[in-house]
Amino acid sequence: MSKEDNIKTFQEKLADYIQLSSVSAQYQNINVTAEFLKKTLTELGGQVQVFDDQKFPLVFADFPTTDPNSDQPTVLFYNHYDVQPAEPLELWHSDPWTLTKQDGKLIGRGIADCKGDLFVRLTALKNYIDDNGQPPVHIKFLIEGAEEIASNGLEYYFKKYSNLFQTDLVVWESGSKNEKGQLSITGGNKGICCFELSATSANIDLHSSYAAIVDGALWHLVDSISSLRDRGKIAIEGFYDGIEEPTDRARELAHQMNLSPEKLTEQYQLAYPLIPGNEINKIKEAYLFSPSLNIEGISGGYENESVKTVLPRYGVAKFDIRLVPGQEPEDIAKKVEAQLKKNGFNDIKIDYTMGSKAYRSDMDAPLINTLIQTAKTVYGGENSIEVLPTSAGTGPSYNFNHYLNAPIAAFGIGNPQSGAHAPNENVYEADYLQGIELISRFFTNLTKNK
Ligand SMILES: [Zn+2]
Repeated sequence: MSKEDNIKTFQEKLADYIQLSSVSAQYQNINVTAEFLKKTLTELGGQVQVFDDQKFPLVFADFPTTDPNSDQPTVLFYNHYDVQPAEPLELWHSDPWTLTKQDGKLIGRGIADCKGDLFVRLTALKNYIDDNGQPPVHIKFLIEGAEEIASNGLEYYFKKYSNLFQTDLVVWESGSKNEKGQLSITGGNKGICCFELSATSANIDLHSSYAAIVDGALWHLVDSISSLRDRGKIAIEGFYDGIEEPTDRARELAHQMNLSPEKLTEQYQLAYPLIPGNEINKIKEAYLFSPSLNIEGISGGYENESVKTVLPRYGVAKFDIRLVPGQEPEDIAKKVEAQLKKNGFNDIKIDYTMGSKAYRSDMDAPLINTLIQTAKTVYGGENSIEVLPTSAGTGPSYNFNHYLNAPIAAFGIGNPQSGAHAPNENVYEADYLQGIELISRFFTNLTKNK
């Protein structure tokens, strides 16, 4: 079939894939979607296994090289077949489960995160196989079904089957262009440590006349929280111990990142100066390489209208700490607890909720370099690409590196207004086609470069 026919055929299959409405949070169509992928990947020539030891099956496809003794590299594509719920439905302008083309866009739940990306990759592979036969590069697909609910079960599969997943490069599920229209290629993410602090001061809420003689839970809570910062700096003993400094190259890439303090301030009408000060490179480095301590919310006592003169017996606050490489989530939670004790807050209870470690990729790894050079030829030259050693958000890339010990590159067909997780999720059809071109040329260049 011609390349155009392949694009058309695979877009029809993509429509079926979206129609499967595989919402992990609602355990909807999970097994049937895994089976759909098994069929699709098998038809493409893959050796497909569906592991269903866990509630959410894992689809694994192997496209072995023509010459098993060759030293051709292995590339593993990581995707997920689950999507976020489509609700609120009334905010969609078209049916979320029907792939809709409008104004140069492809619209539907999962198109940007990350069903569209998977089909971009499959289309490119089909084109490559049509032109060259079985690819000389060893290609694997690892497609999980629970990414949107914290990759439930993924670590189990890694522990049991990671020998099958070994690779020289992990291509991450999705990504997008930035506000400047550059393709972002990102190599990892920050970790996270989530916990709650709570204080209990009595067995019931008291009349606030007692406040002259009875100390309340909320005062203890806010005092304990403010003791964790000293003039804006995180004041937790050992917090910065063991942090891996970014390499010079990572800093250099950070300095080239598309981030404008003025735009940020304008967009969100920020009331306070940025924490690292005015120097642009310091701001960019902090955004990518510094851990942060954030209060997600504080609650307790009377929170409704007018007045209630009450002395609350209980207060709770939720926190997240974004971690950088070298920090361990549970260890950081212990350090918070130790610091609170040291500051005299023995009464504050800490509950660790969840965490994951950070991972920062080496963007000079040879296969990533091939990818970057290829992307420049597809997207329009030196300045068409933004390369970042990490994102400021959190994801499971640490586990991938831990079990596979391979560099990671994330990129995809989204745009800043793609609305992943939101109504009217979309990608530009032009980005979809460019995405196919990128993967096709990447396969060719991988072969050539060996
Ligand atoms: Zn995703």
